[in-house]
Amino acid sequence: VVTIDVLREWLTRFRDAVTEQREWLTELDSAIGDADHGANMARGMGAAVEKVVQAAPEKVDALLKTTGMALVSSVGGASGPLYGTFFLRAGASAGPVSELDGPALAAALRAGLGGVVDRGKAEPGDKTLIDALLPAVDAFEVGLASGDEELAASARRAADAAAAGRDATLDLVARKGRASYLGERSVGHLDPGAASTTLMFETLADAIA
Ligand code: ADP
Ligand code: MG
Ligand code: MG
Repeated sequence: VVTIDVLREWLTRFRDAVTEQREWLTELDSAIGDADHGANMARGMGAAVEKVVQAAPEKVDALLKTTGMALVSSVGGASGPLYGTFFLRAGASAGPVSELDGPALAAALRAGLGGVVDRGKAEPGDKTLIDALLPAVDAFEVGLASGDEELAASARRAADAAAAGRDATLDLVARKGRASYLGERSVGHLDPGAASTTLMFETLADAIA
């Protein structure tokens, strides 16, 4: 199972990763956007972890809701509402529990993905964070039987799938968000949101391992 402490560690590790990779995320966004994705994610996850420490939620739904609300209210860019909705929907799916088994975590991630799709209306191949998020959620579910070993392996597979999805955004034409203004000129650049989503799954795998 994944305890609330592991989920808290995930959020902290994700905050640390986007802070460490802030310049890279900004560099990616400067090529096809407005050069603020690193700052947006570092500020958003910084605010989220701060709120989580203050509120000290004891249930998974409250933990993820606190995270989502902090992201929505602290980030002005597209990524704030999108990541915010991801965590809000994941929390609502999880409910007032203090740990999640594999299927419950898979359902929460799937619900989060649904929230991002509802909110942003992006389809696979539009060169957005969906191109990392969707394959990661799919990979997490594959072979999720039972037992903690299987859970850790699934989380690692999800991170690998996210990275492959991120890398595949290189050749795509952006159809959503600011990058879509560039049309064909967006080809040859990685999507910044797909890069940060990959960090989210890599840190989930690290926290569960
Ligand atoms: P902004 O574009 O407002 O400056 P960010 O730079 O923080 O916001 O985030 C940009 C990222 O948001 C993009 O790289 C893309 O992955 C993601 N994104 C933008 N619009 C959408 C959308 N409609 N659906 C899904 N993801 C999106
Ligand atoms: Mg931007
Ligand atoms: Mg912006």
